[in-house]
Amino acid sequence: MDKREVIMDHYSNPRNKRKINDDRYIVKNSRNSSCIDNIDIYINIVDGVIEDLAFDGEACAISISSASIMTTNLKGKTINEAKNYINNMKNMLDDKEYDSDILKEAIVYEDTKNTSRKTCAWLPYEALSSVLSNLK
Ligand code: ZN
Repeated sequence: MDKREVIMDHYSNPRNKRKINDDRYIVKNSRNSSCIDNIDIYINIVDGVIEDLAFDGEACAISISSASIMTTNLKGKTINEAKNYINNMKNMLDDKEYDSDILKEAIVYEDTKNTSRKTCAWLPYEALSSVLSNLK
């Protein structure tokens, strides 16, 4: 699959997209004023591990697919592994050095790095990153 196909696959058939009403989950909203993006991220952390990760909301193809790929890749990871992944994603979007082996199919967003779509690709990570950095 080329980059566009990966994005369209995750947009038309998003993984882990569901509304969750459960006290065990932390919910974090993230919006992008320059786009239609408005998504909630749901995170259930147990003993330092992301037991479950999901999202819901309305957003463009870049943002929905990015959330789908993020939740797929980070479910089951430790908080430190997730932070490392998020740092690599940020570095890629900021045109710095990053490890493509860690990011897996999230590398499809490399092309957004110098465009306004960069914010769309980053949106779900912004929410997750803010939750993880506020953990006690
Ligand atoms: Zn967007």
